[in-house]
Amino acid sequence: MDRDAYFEHLRRGIDAVDRWQDRRGPFEADDTLAVPGSRVAEALAELSERLEENYPYGHPRYAGQMMKPPHPIATLAYAIAMQINPNNHALDGGAATSRMEREVVTDLAAMFGFPEQHLGHLTGGGTIANIEALWVARSLHPERAIAASDQAHYTHGRGCDVLGIEFMPIASDTAGRMDLDALEAQLRFGKIGTVVATAGTTGLGTVDPIHEIIPLARQYGARVHVDAAYGGFFMLLARRADPPIVPAPFLAIADADSVVVDPHKHGLQPYGCGSVLFRDPAVGRFYVHDSPYTYFTSRDLHLGEISLECSRAGASAAALWTTLRCLPLAPDTGLGAIVARGRDAALLWSELISEGPYFRLVVEPDLDILALYPTPESSGATTASAISRLVDELFLAAEHDPQSPAFFAKLVVPQRLLAAHGPAIIWDQPTVTVLRSVLMKPEHLSFVPALNDTLVRQLTNIARTM
Ligand SMILES: *Cc1c(COP(=O)(O)O)cnc(C)c1O
Repeated sequence: MDRDAYFEHLRRGIDAVDRWQDRRGPFEADDTLAVPGSRVAEALAELSERLEENYPYGHPRYAGQMMKPPHPIATLAYAIAMQINPNNHALDGGAATSRMEREVVTDLAAMFGFPEQHLGHLTGGGTIANIEALWVARSLHPERAIAASDQAHYTHGRGCDVLGIEFMPIASDTAGRMDLDALEAQLRFGKIGTVVATAGTTGLGTVDPIHEIIPLARQYGARVHVDAAYGGFFMLLARRADPPIVPAPFLAIADADSVVVDPHKHGLQPYGCGSVLFRDPAVGRFYVHDSPYTYFTSRDLHLGEISLECSRAGASAAALWTTLRCLPLAPDTGLGAIVARGRDAALLWSELISEGPYFRLVVEPDLDILALYPTPESSGATTASAISRLVDELFLAAEHDPQSPAFFAKLVVPQRLLAAHGPAIIWDQPTVTVLRSVLMKPEHLSFVPALNDTLVRQLTNIARTM
C-alpha cells in the first residue's frame, strides 16, 4: 500500500471515530494530558533511534526468526479501533469487536473443517491459547498425563507444570515428527489423557502425522490437541488441487478435539493475536464463573465467559476481521497465496542446497522453515563442535556481508536427527548448532538465490582462512 493511501485511510478512520464520539457533544481534553509538540517530536525521534537496534524483520534479507511486520491493513484497522480501545472481555467493553471476533473465529473454524457448533475465541497469543487447551484437557482427564513430541514447543511442558499435570515427552523420528511407535508404547499404559500433535514445529517446521495420531490416540481413549500456532494457515494449501504440502495431517485437524492457531504468526497480525478452538462446545462448562464486575448489558454469551484471560484488545479482533475481508482464508488467493510463496521459497532453496556441495538440510522441510549446516567436504569441519563453531561464524558473517547481508537464526539439534541421513560427522558432543531460516514473507521467494549466495560466499571465505 503506498504511503499516501495509508495516511489517507488512517485519517478517514480516525475522523470517523471522532465524529462518532462527538455525537455526545464536544469536550476538551484535560490540560494534564497536554504535552508540547516539541517534546512529542523529541521523544518520537528518540524512539525511532532506539528502534534501530532491531533486526530488519520486514526485509526479505531477514530470514531468521518467525517474525515479520503485520499487513498495513491490520495496522490501519488496529490503529483506528484502538482510538476507542475496546476490551473483548465483555460485550459492554467491546460489542462491535466481540462480534467481529465471533465472525473471524467462525472463519478459522471453517478453515479447519470444525463443526458449525464449536467453541473458540481469540487470545493474547499461542502460549495462553495452548495453556487453555491443556487446562480443558486436565478438566476432562484430571488424573492423566499430556503427551507431546520432543520437538513440540516448550510451552506444553511448562504449561503442564503450571497446571500441575504430568507431561510426557514422546521421541521424534529422524524426520523430526512424532514417532508413532514411541507414542503407542506410552499410550499402552493408559496414563495419557491428551496427545498434543504439532502442525509446524517452531524449530524445524515439521508436521506431526496428525492423521495417524488421532486414530491411535482414540484407540487408547485419549484426546488430541493440535498446536498449529505456527503452521495452521498452511491448512489452506491442503485444499488446493495440487497441494505443495502433504495434505493428510492438515485435513485430519478437522477431527481433533482442539486446535490453536496464531494469527500473529502467519495471519499478518500484530502481536497479541492467538486463538483456540474446541470441537465440543460443551467444554464451555469448565469456564463457568460469576464475575460481579462486567456482565450486565446482555444475556448473550460474553467472550470473557469462555476464556482464561480477562482484558483483551478488541483492536486485535478488528485488525484480523478487516484483514480477512481483504485477504480471505482462500486456498489460491488471499492468505493461501501468501503462505504458498513461503512454501515455494523453501522448496526452491532445498533444491539449490541439494544441487551444491556446500550445505545439507537437517530434514526435508514440511513448511517454510529450513535448517541447514555446512558439509564437512566443503568446510573441513568434521566434528559436531567444529560445525557448530563454523555456524556461529557464518551467522555473523552473513549478517555483515558487505555485498548482500542476510539474517538467519541458529538452532541446536540433537545427534539423533542428523545421524540417519547426515554425512559422517564425528560426534564429540551430543548436539550440533545449525542455521535456521524462516521464509515466512512472500518476498522471500525472489530473495532465496541471494540468501543462498551469501551463505556460500561466506562459507568459502571462512573455509579458506581456516
Ligand atoms: C509460537 C508458538 C507457540 C507459542 O505461541 P506465542 O504466540 O509465541 O505465545 C506455541 N507453539 C508453537 C508451535 C509455536 O510456533
